[in-house]
Amino acid sequence: MRIISADVVVIGGGGAGLRAAIAAAEADPGLAIALISKVLPMRSHTVAAEGGSAGVVRDDDSLDNHFDDTVTGGEWLCDQDVVDYFVRHCTEEMVQLERWGCPWSRKPDGSINVRFFGGMKVQRTWFAADKSGFHILHTLFQTSHKYPAITRYDEYFCADLIVEDGRVRGVVAIEIATGEMVLFHCKAAVLATGGAGRVFRQNTNAGIVTGEGMGLALRAGAVLRDMEFVQWHPTCLPGTGILMSEACRGEGAILTNKDGYRYLQDYGLGPLDPWPRAKAMELGPRDRLSQAFWHEDKKGNTIQTPHGSAVNLDLRHLGEKKILERLPLITEAARTFAGVDPVREPIPVRPAVHYTMGGIATNVMTETAISGLYAAGECASVGIHGANRLGSNSLAEIVVFGKVAGERAAQYVRSARPVSPERTARLAEASATRVLRLLGNERGERLAEIRDAMMDAMEEGVGLYRTEAGLKAACRTLADLRARYRRGIRLDDRNRAFNTEWLAAIELGSMLEVAEAMAHAALWRRESRGAHQRLDATARDDRRFLVHSIARSGGDGAPQIKSAPVTITKSRPGSRVYGGAGAKAELT
Ligand SMILES: Cc1cc2nc3c(=O)[nH]c(=O)nc-3n(C[C@H](O)[C@H](O)[C@H](O)COP(=O)(O)OP(=O)(O)OC[C@H]3O[C@@H](n4cnc5c(N)ncnc54)[C@H](O)[C@@H]3O)c2cc1C
Repeated sequence: MRIISADVVVIGGGGAGLRAAIAAAEADPGLAIALISKVLPMRSHTVAAEGGSAGVVRDDDSLDNHFDDTVTGGEWLCDQDVVDYFVRHCTEEMVQLERWGCPWSRKPDGSINVRFFGGMKVQRTWFAADKSGFHILHTLFQTSHKYPAITRYDEYFCADLIVEDGRVRGVVAIEIATGEMVLFHCKAAVLATGGAGRVFRQNTNAGIVTGEGMGLALRAGAVLRDMEFVQWHPTCLPGTGILMSEACRGEGAILTNKDGYRYLQDYGLGPLDPWPRAKAMELGPRDRLSQAFWHEDKKGNTIQTPHGSAVNLDLRHLGEKKILERLPLITEAARTFAGVDPVREPIPVRPAVHYTMGGIATNVMTETAISGLYAAGECASVGIHGANRLGSNSLAEIVVFGKVAGERAAQYVRSARPVSPERTARLAEASATRVLRLLGNERGERLAEIRDAMMDAMEEGVGLYRTEAGLKAACRTLADLRARYRRGIRLDDRNRAFNTEWLAAIELGSMLEVAEAMAHAALWRRESRGAHQRLDATARDDRRFLVHSIARSGGDGAPQIKSAPVTITKSRPGSRVYGGAGAKAELT
């Protein structure tokens, strides 16, 4: 096995990983920082983000407003000390991106332009047309080249973390081009591996968003938090799941059912007028809009398409000039993938899984339960999003907490005791043997069969609305699928060079564990809050469930779920109302 020595290993070349690597290099230019990514960093999923990133900038806005929208939006399951830190650092990170070259859209007078996003009472979403993620990622990627401390390992796949005595010692990876096993011997590691949307079938995520980092952390002894909170985005193209960004509604798009009726007014988001109004109708939060779709569908008010039912996202009244200026990517995607020109026709949309609110549990300093292991970005649960993430808070999160993770890791390595490379190498050999064994299986199932069955179980049992019976069935199926996975996967391709089937088989192991954590946490949470809705426990239950769920690996068995306290500082839990009722509640 090839051995590479580094001080800090950053796993993930998306927004959070690049920001962490830059911060570590700035904190200590003498460090050796290895930045590992299974795809070229510019293909990380941050590139797909469209709408923009939150940061208070207008005179009529305040940090208190951002804090309040976030905590209310997350239905009081956010850690308020973390949200406080977050809102105080978003804007400086947006300015930092600007200085590194991010081309934020501007007003005619040259000042920063911001747009409305769902659940936010003031316009505070910085955007670069509807290609915000592309520009942020590009900016971070080109900036990372300035730092000789950072060495990139593009197309290296991390298969295991080496942890002993509760401390990180290394990372075992596969060089994808050759299949060679590589041990990155290190003192600290930052997980920035993104979300896990691919455990569901209908989703907006690329094939690489498989929850790998969550699986690595869980197996190494860290815990996952709030995994039951999976976000459905209300406006995705049926069939492909391609996202029609919330920026559409931020710019004024409306949602209508098969009769042309703006049905959101029937779901606590109206009244219609005056419109547009922040936190009302189409500017409501994602959980509420996705749930309203579900009810409209049950009432038979949706449009039938070859890929399932849909409602209409109508931009036509915005006019061609504004549509092309503010939403060029959406226009192109609707034309190419739905055969619909948004300038002339409404776009059929439906909810699809989009974002993992839960993840590897960290504190505000991005520290996990394992010394020297940090997590940031969508793979982490630092405590901002609670039961429902507000759109545009994630791009801000990856830079705010990516930076913290890099700085903390750099600081940690200064005081970390040296570890024996020989001992780490022995542990890594055992881990490599397990990974290589997958290539040699003569018998076993096709990985696609198990992966398909997992996605079906998640769609059926762990969907937008859940019941005890459905969740129990999903848990049983997932346990069975994990047992089948352990019995063996038979690969058609036995080569080590560029063997994507092998990598997919390794990923499937993590996906099954992540899916199981989601299903068990959802079964445990017998209440309805934010994105987690139970038909058999429809009320929010603060007495029993104003707590985080924590999932710990049960080895070959089911994950163990327990609770952990939520940090509440200044916002006492209240009712979460939007539309006219929400505006009234805020005035009183
Ligand atoms: C279509 C879409 C639109 C969105 N729009 C917005 C928006 O407008 N505003 C907003 O705030 N949020 C938005 N989001 C959410 C936001 O973009 C993501 O949450 C965020 O970009 C995640 O960044 P990340 O750095 O955590 O992960 P990613 O960008 O997903 O990067 C993960 C990295 O980890 C690497 N990796 C993973 N596993 C391994 C492994 N085993 N070995 C090696 N490397 C590995 C990958 O190669 C990749 O480099 C959107 C999401 C989607 C899907």
